Amino acid sequence: MLNVALFGPPGAGKGTQSEFLTKKYNLFYISTGDLLRKEMAGKTKLGLEAQSIIASGGLVPDEIIVQIIEKTITDNPGSNGFLFDGFPRTYIQAYILEGLMIKLHTSLNCLISLSVPEEESVKRLLNRGLTSGRSDDNEAVIRNRLREYNDKTLPVLQFYKDKGIYIEVDGTKSIENVHDQITQIISHELSKSLFNIVLFGYPGSGRGSQGKALARHFGLEYVATGPMLDQEIKDDTETGRKINELYENGQLVPDEIVVQLIEKKLADSKDIKGFIFKGFPRTLVQSYILDGLLRKHGSSISQIIEIDVPTLELINRLDERSKTDRCMPYDNSTSKIVKRLQEHETKTVPVIDKYKQLHGVTKVDGLGSFDEVFQRIAEEIENGIKSLR
Ligand code: AMP
Repeated sequence: MLNVALFGPPGAGKGTQSEFLTKKYNLFYISTGDLLRKEMAGKTKLGLEAQSIIASGGLVPDEIIVQIIEKTITDNPGSNGFLFDGFPRTYIQAYILEGLMIKLHTSLNCLISLSVPEEESVKRLLNRGLTSGRSDDNEAVIRNRLREYNDKTLPVLQFYKDKGIYIEVDGTKSIENVHDQITQIISHELSKSLFNIVLFGYPGSGRGSQGKALARHFGLEYVATGPMLDQEIKDDTETGRKINELYENGQLVPDEIVVQLIEKKLADSKDIKGFIFKGFPRTLVQSYILDGLLRKHGSSISQIIEIDVPTLELINRLDERSKTDRCMPYDNSTSKIVKRLQEHETKTVPVIDKYKQLHGVTKVDGLGSFDEVFQRIAEEIENGIKSLR
C-alpha cells in the first residue's frame, strides 16, 4: 500500500497534482474539502454544520472531519493506497490519521509539502475564483483561509518532520515540473516497499513449478510451506517426523509449525524485492497470520493470483505425478489425492473468497503448456507491478 498526504496552503496545486497521482498510482483520493462540499450539496446534517464555517474560511471541527474520513476509508479498504488532500489540517488530525492507518494495518509513506509564498496563493485562488464557482474563493475569505493555514495547519509539518517522512517540493514551478518532482519522490518510496504475491490454485494446478519459475524471473523470494516441511522430514527432525505422520493421514500441519518456519524464512531474507507465497495461507486463520507476519516487516500483500484448472484435469495430473519419482508422500493413493482436493475446497477456497472481497484476485487460466501458463501469469504480475509503481 502506498499512502501519501499532499500538503500546502490553499492554491498550492494539491488538487491539480492529485488528479495525475491518483491515476498514475491507482490510489484512492480523499479530499476532505470535496467530501465536505458533497455533504453540503446533499444538505446532510454534517454538511449543514460545516456550511457557514467553510463560507467564512475557517476550519471545520475535527469531530466532523473524523466522521467523513473514517466512513470513506472503511468503505474502501482494498484500494492500492490513499492520497490525502487537505488532510491532516490540524495537529489533532495528524493523530487521527495515525489511528486510521493503524486500523488499516498500514502507515503513511510520506507527506509531500508544496511550498508556495502567500501572495502567489492569493493570486492563484483569485484566478480560480473566476471559474470555480466556490464561494470561498474571494479575497476576504482567502485571507482568512491563509490565516487559518498559518495558525493551525503549518504546525502539522513538525509532526511529520519528527517522524522523518516530511518532504518539501517547490510548488511555484510549472505543473509538469511539480509533477516530476513528486513522481521521483514516490518512485523512491515504492522502491523501498516489497512486492508480495500470494499464489493460489488446487493441488495439481502447477502453482509449485510456476511459483518457483516466477520467483526466479521477478527476483522474488519463493516461500513454499510444502518444501519447507519436506526439508524437515528429510532432515529427520522431531518436527519432520510429526509432519510425516500428518501427511500419511492427509491432514494439514498445525499452524504453530508453519508459522515458525515462515517467520524464520522472512527474518533470514535480506535485501529482497518481495515474496511469492505458495501453499500459504491455506486457512482463514493462516490468512490472518500472513497479514501479521507481513505487517511485522512493514509490508502487505500486493497481488493475489489464482491458477484455474478444471477438477478432472487436476485428478489426471496428480494421478500421473503419483506414477513418477516426483510422487509426494501425500499423493501416493487416490484417497489421499481426493482428500487433498477436498481440504482445498473446504479450507482454502474460503480464503480466496475473502481475498476476492478485500483485495481482488486475478484468475489465470492454468490449462496449456508450462510456458503458456507462465507467460499469462508473468503478464498479470507485470501489470500488477506497473499499477503499483
Ligand atoms: P479545500 O477544498 O481543501 O480547500 O477545503 C475547503 C474548506 O473545507 C476549507 O477552507 C475548510 O473550511 C474545510 N476543510 C477541508 N478540509 C478540512 C480539514 N481537514 N479540516 C478542517 N476543515 C477542512
